[in-house]
Parts: sequence; C-alpha cells; structure tokens
Amino acid sequence: MAFKVLTGNFSHETNTFNIVPTTLAHFRVLNANEIPGARRGTRTDLGATFEAADKYGWSLIHPVAAGANPSGIITRETYEDLAGRLLEGAEGIDGALLHLHGAMVAEGIEDGEGELLRRLRAIVGPDVPVIVTLDLHGNITQAMADNANALLAVRTYPHIDHYEQAWRGADLLERAMRGEIRPVTVIAKRPMLKGLDGGRTQAGPMRELIDRGIALEEAGKALVVSVCSGFTAADIRDIGPSVTVTTDGADPAGQAIAEEFMDYAWATREFTSVRHHTLAEACAYAKAGEGKHDRPLVMADVTDNPGSGHYGDATNFLRAMIAADLQNAAFYAMFDPEAVQQGIAIGVGNSGTITLGGKHDAGAGGAPLVLTGRVVTLSDGKLRAFGPMGGGVWRNLGPSMLFRVGGIEIMAITLNSQATDLAQLTSLGCDPTRKDSIAVKSNHHFRAAFTPIAREIITVNGGGLGDKILTGGTYLNARRPIWPLDDLTRT
Ligand SMILES: [Zn+2]
Repeated sequence: MAFKVLTGNFSHETNTFNIVPTTLAHFRVLNANEIPGARRGTRTDLGATFEAADKYGWSLIHPVAAGANPSGIITRETYEDLAGRLLEGAEGIDGALLHLHGAMVAEGIEDGEGELLRRLRAIVGPDVPVIVTLDLHGNITQAMADNANALLAVRTYPHIDHYEQAWRGADLLERAMRGEIRPVTVIAKRPMLKGLDGGRTQAGPMRELIDRGIALEEAGKALVVSVCSGFTAADIRDIGPSVTVTTDGADPAGQAIAEEFMDYAWATREFTSVRHHTLAEACAYAKAGEGKHDRPLVMADVTDNPGSGHYGDATNFLRAMIAADLQNAAFYAMFDPEAVQQGIAIGVGNSGTITLGGKHDAGAGGAPLVLTGRVVTLSDGKLRAFGPMGGGVWRNLGPSMLFRVGGIEIMAITLNSQATDLAQLTSLGCDPTRKDSIAVKSNHHFRAAFTPIAREIITVNGGGLGDKILTGGTYLNARRPIWPLDDLTRT
C-alpha cells in the first residue's frame, strides 16, 4: 500500500523590527489544485518532493503552499489560517515532509515552526516520521528538534540547494516509514545573538562546519548535521546560531557533535568576511570606473534588503547616485506602488515628476525623492526566473516601471522583493550586462545571479533599517545574557 505523505510550504522570515504586520494579502498562497502546476518540474523543495513521490510511489497530500517576502510579524489570524490549512491534511498520514523556514514569528507565537510542529505531532502521535527542510537563517528551537525527526537546513547562501535538501529529506522519510531507521534530532546553542558570519557559506566558520558535518554524515556518524546561523532581525528568546544533529535512534554522540560544533561557532563569533562601503565611497568608486570596463560594478545596499524584511524603499543610495551623476547605471529596485501608479498616469515614453521611496520610515534610509524623468517601461511585473535561485518559477512583482533620471535606470515595483534574478531587470528592458554600475537592495542572495556578470561586487551601508537594527536595535525578548549585548568574556 502506498505511503500517505503530507507535504507543503509555510515559509516566512519574520523581521520583528519591521513595523508593518504581515497579513494573508502578503502571502502567495497556492491551494492543493494549484500546487502541481506551479511546482512540478521546478528546482524547488516541492519540485523535488513530487519527483520523490513518483519514485517511491507515495500518495502525496499537499493542502497548501504559502510563502511571503520577509516582513513584519505575522498576524495571529493569518498564522492560524495557514497553519490550519496545512494541518488539515495530517490525519492518518504515514509521514510528513514539510518545507519551512525556521524564523517565523506570529503575534503571540515567537516560534512559528516549533508551534506548527507541536500541533502536527499532537495529531499524528510519536511514531509518524516528520522531516523538515529549513533555511540556514532559521532561529532553531528545542521545540522544532523535539517535534521533528530530522531538520535539514540548506547548505548554500545564496540558497540554491532547496531542491537537493528536499530530496535528502525524502530519502530519509522513505527509510523511516519503512522502519529501517528511527531518526532523532538534538540541538545545541550558545549565548550568541549572531555568528557564523551571517550564514555566508563561501569561506569562514560556516563553510568549516558545513564541511565537517558532511564528513560526519559520509562516515556514518550522523544521519544529518544541520548548521544554522540564525536571523538577527528577530527579537525572540531563541535567536541565534544553532547546530542540530540527527542520529538513528537516541545516541549521545549526536549531542556531543552538536556541542563541539557550537564551541567552534562560539570561538569564531567575531569573524566577519565583509566590509561595507559608505555611500560616498561606493559612488566615487563607480564614477571612477565608468567607461573603462565591459562588465558592471555591482553595489549591494545590505541595509535595505527586502530579503531580510527591510522596507525596500530607502532612498539614500539612489540620492547619492544621482548626486554623483552616475552614467549608464541601474538601480534595482524601489518598492513603491504609489510611484508606479504615478508612472502609469504619466505614460510610457513621456516625462514627468514622481515622488519615490522613503514612505515607510524616512528615519531608516532617507526621505522621499521628488524626481523628474522619463517613463521608459511599464509592465505587469510577471516574469519567469531563469537563474540559480528558483529557476523556472513564475514570479509576480506587481505593476512595475523603469524610470530614467539622467544616466540612471531606476526600477520600481509594487510587491517588495530583493534582486535575485536577472529577469527582474531584463523584463523591464534593462540589460544588466551592459551597465557600468548596478545598485541592488540585497544582503547576499543577489550574488547567485550577479556574480557571473559582475566585474566586481561591493557591499554598501545605505543607512536603512538593517543598519538601525545592527547599531541600535533594542532586543527585549532575547534570552540573557547574550553576546554581543552582554559581556561574556569570562565564560
Ligand atoms: Zn536565508
């Protein structure tokens, strides 16, 4: 008889410092009928799950797939709605393979995934295997480890291995449902708010621990070793890096591995692999390179990254670019539905004046810009990603515009999103490969698509919400004492 397997997405990285609540309207929700058409054949977690179900002959139940751009705390009503839809499919299953994030916060629920898994466990009982894939930016909790049999975090940042981790999870689930293995997961943490270089997997402590974990898996010492750097923009008790280890049956060796790995994370907590440029430095550098290269300089404002739940409408960087009179430059993007509507009213090919950006919190990245320029392109914002992150998936950024001011092609969008795919620019008629310089709002994910076309990449501090959190963030709920808020030098 075919195993009955529950799958689905309920994914959100919640920035508790973002003052705008996240509601159902912010989520892209696919129901059971829509999921196969949207996800089969894609390099996504659900794409892999459908392939695994075909291979193993599972009867797959997929009541809902829901994901939103990182943003503020999810309203309780929205959480209950989406969690309820997912758990409706849990009665009588043989196993579950869920694709979550790990840093979800809802009103009154600091640990969104832990609570979801607790509810699932209450329905299915202790013996049904529950396997979960996660983002490496999850703030992983004891409740997640206790209520899932295995937690598999992605191992790349930019995250381009959701598909592979879902396949690994599927293989584990099949073996667990057959009774060949009984996966048990333990967790270790340290009093750290941040560390593991923010999850960067190119070099440094994150790379080191991921490689050590893979070696242990290959040597048969553990079924899974997952390393998560945590998400600093979440003011919750369980913030911070973690290591979870899954063994076949309860095994003290699992906890020992997790503790040893976290000792290393603690020892390397100060390590950083990036230095952010000031706006003046970045613009001067871009100006000096104009006309001298055949590939663009890519400049990322890490402090207004929609991918971390920042507002996406900070104006400081664009203001500096205009003041520097950059030529053959691109700016992606300003999240500003009203400005796009102003552009629509002006009309393609016409010149006019718009008020752009700075509308959420002028104290986090600058006041609105009043700009006169030309509306070059308008689109409905629907595009098919073709890059390494989610290639093949249709995305919708809502009504979008390319507005040209001097030598800068400024793109504005209606649904907030960071720059992760070149199609976001090309769909508006901007050819990024031919620019002298390109500004993006992104912390690190942009690299997957932009590294191959860039002559050089620099990161920039544009004074957005991310900068406010890092320099003056008030953590009221984090467990104390915790580094770097408290002096832990003697521990
Ligand atoms: Zn992430």
